[in-house]
Amino acid sequence: MAPSQRAYNFSAGPATLPLPVLQQVQQELLSYGETGASVMEISHRSPAFLDILDSARNRLRSLLQIPPNYEILLLQGGARLQFSMIPLNLLSSREDIADYVVTGAWSEKAQQEASKQAQARVIWTGESSGYDHLPEWDQLAFTPEAQYVYMTSNETIQGVQFPSCPSTNDIPLVCDASSDLLCRPLNMGSYGLLYACAQKNLGPAGVTIVIIRDDLLQRSQDHLPGYLNYRLHAEQNSLYNTPPTFAIYLLDLVCRSIQENHGDLESLHQLNQEKAGLLYQVIDEHPEFYSGHAKSDCRSIMNVTFRMHSEELLDRFVQEAAEHGLTNLKGHRSVGGIRASIYNAMPLDGVKSLAKFMTDFQDRNT
Ligand SMILES: *Cc1c(COP(=O)(O)O)cnc(C)c1O
Repeated sequence: MAPSQRAYNFSAGPATLPLPVLQQVQQELLSYGETGASVMEISHRSPAFLDILDSARNRLRSLLQIPPNYEILLLQGGARLQFSMIPLNLLSSREDIADYVVTGAWSEKAQQEASKQAQARVIWTGESSGYDHLPEWDQLAFTPEAQYVYMTSNETIQGVQFPSCPSTNDIPLVCDASSDLLCRPLNMGSYGLLYACAQKNLGPAGVTIVIIRDDLLQRSQDHLPGYLNYRLHAEQNSLYNTPPTFAIYLLDLVCRSIQENHGDLESLHQLNQEKAGLLYQVIDEHPEFYSGHAKSDCRSIMNVTFRMHSEELLDRFVQEAAEHGLTNLKGHRSVGGIRASIYNAMPLDGVKSLAKFMTDFQDRNT
């Protein structure tokens, strides 16, 4: 299949990957470097793979400017396993308290999972308005003895995103950045632990990045099952067991393509803002036709969510868009409408095509 036959794929995840990365994978699939074997077929302790592992972590450290007192763990189990690993490792008893800021479907699930382990307090929730807005961070009342505060920087399903990095002073801040890590610079020093599954913005499904401050590793207790213990993974350099080697190889290539094409996350952030701006502009220009889900001060630059006034119109939008090579636009069933996921790997031209399609579709149907 020729690259020109690839659609602009707006899938929320697993999501589109940079074409040059896929082409490189294709080229070296049968034999990686001098190994005479595929990356999938070599030992995770071989020099060739250890180089990939180091390279992926070094690129993440450099792109995100992660200070030396943070470890980068590359784990399996997706973001969902972190919903359990975080309370298992950071809390020591059922009486311990963690504060949860519930801004959408993913933080809701994380809180439910944590409440199986300890006191997971909902200190704010946007549920009553369908998670269309975010709290005023300064107005939140944290529990003084909370062991951590939990947040989700970008709610992938509702399309609400914190515009900047909040702070919690002395209480460690834990953040699910699954759908927006590497979309913009961040201040790692504000977080105690930050994590992301790869299949939105970073690579294929199979690897989850956990960035954790050294002092928090001391909270992991020996009685935890081995795989669920952060400290063991850190001590073993993320080679406690066989890591997801192929996914880590792709993570490294995706990070390299960002470094080569954008240099740093500042310029990538500008591009992402420009891309999102194109779609929100169409929505704002036709409020009687398209209605955005998120309030304008917390609109996501990764997942653009909006509705139309009838199901029939919505189905036609999705179908006609697909005929134009714009695929996977149907929103999550809990929100309805359209969701255009425009992660780093979605080219500006793809977003321009969608914006034009939206304008034309609106013209044809009013
Ligand atoms: C996709 C997603 C998850 C779930 O990821 P899995 O790897 O499927 O467990 C959790 N949080 C956010 C913000 C997500 O976007």
